[in-house]
Amino acid sequence: MDAFTFHNPTKLIFGKGQLEQLPKELPQDTKRVLLVYGGGSIKKNGIYDNVMEKLNQFGAEVFELTGVEPNPRISTVRKGVAICKKENIDYLLAVGGGSVIDCTKTVAAGAKYEGDAWDLVTKKAFPDGALPFGTVLTLAATGSEMNGGAVITNWETNEKYGWGYPPYTYPAFSILDPTHTISVPRDQTIYGIVDMMTHILEQYFHNPTLSPVQDEMCEGVLRAVIKTAPKLLNDLESFEHRETILYAGTVALNGMLQMGYRGDWATHNTEHAVSAVYDIPHAGGLAILFPNWMKHNLANDPNRFKRLAVNVFGVNPEGKSDREAGMEGIEELRKFWSSLGAPETLADYDIDNSKFDLIIDRAMKRGSFGNFNNLENSDVAAILEMSK
Ligand code: NAP
Ligand code: FE
Repeated sequence: MDAFTFHNPTKLIFGKGQLEQLPKELPQDTKRVLLVYGGGSIKKNGIYDNVMEKLNQFGAEVFELTGVEPNPRISTVRKGVAICKKENIDYLLAVGGGSVIDCTKTVAAGAKYEGDAWDLVTKKAFPDGALPFGTVLTLAATGSEMNGGAVITNWETNEKYGWGYPPYTYPAFSILDPTHTISVPRDQTIYGIVDMMTHILEQYFHNPTLSPVQDEMCEGVLRAVIKTAPKLLNDLESFEHRETILYAGTVALNGMLQMGYRGDWATHNTEHAVSAVYDIPHAGGLAILFPNWMKHNLANDPNRFKRLAVNVFGVNPEGKSDREAGMEGIEELRKFWSSLGAPETLADYDIDNSKFDLIIDRAMKRGSFGNFNNLENSDVAAILEMSK
């Protein structure tokens, strides 16, 4: 393990009816709140009215930043920053999925920065403060509700980057009520499951691989998600299964599984480049790319892949080389995601190889990447070719 300091300052408030706690989580001197949300799902499912009731009960004046896109854009962040500065906002509340939360994190830091918020995303500058913010999560997927990361797209330059600057980009609190996720449609439910599984897998593949405690934790959470996902997709209104998946999504990326290790994260980096060029759902891209990243890197440490195959996918290793058993595990993962309804190839999104050069350029913009295996241009090209 590397030496590490673990400090997750987000207060996690989990369970049915927990929106009740919202007023007491806001600092007493809060006067002007910026409510941030997406394309309107919270108005259809009633969450908006319930949140407004709590904010009114608290007595804050409420301003709104609406229309945050899936794959949130820097143009929307800039709008939010402008509102914060003009209206003297003193607290932000994100109500939505990962996109709304990531946008809120960046607005919060941008509001305290004199230049353009894109400087923060590109790490050209670092924030020296941020407005405080909390979240009400409505979609199980990213873990953004309990981590310090945010992913923002610049559509003009086809760039999409993850950034974060603890402690400023950690929510002060996040309220997770499984009933808030019951209206999530089938496709977004599938994407959420793929995203959280990929977060665990990105952390499972790291170098060096000696990590007995984390290995067991990663495998255990993966098995729980694999057991629950088909049941949830058969019964999207099941509170019990929504609850399991919601909790899994947070545990998958709140730092618990990565203590002392860096994880790989090459597939996330590659996917960000794909969705910066083609505006596809983040986890749709991951479902396509991750099994191909695995195939590309199998020879790097076949025993690691075999371990995953045996412990998570129940592959029988008898009479097989590590490489064969590992490959069977990769096929099992692909089959599992396909059985849920996730895409398998870029062609499923009508993406051909005509912009592969641009995607590779964007993926490599910050240099070679990946900690399990460092990827260069040719590796990214090979993975994209396999993903066509
Ligand atoms: P999302 O983009 O926040 O939301 C996807 C869709 O689901 C939106 O159309 C949204 O509609 C809808 N939705 C959300 N909650 C709903 C509900 N309760 N009922 C009905 N519809 C609902 O999805 P996400 O997967 O959570 O976030 C994806 C983004 O997060 C990507 O940009 C990805 O790169 C990033 N990401 C961040 C991290 C991190 O750690 N920060 C990690 C992985 C990925 P409305 O817009 O109408 O609300
Ligand atoms: Fe992700």
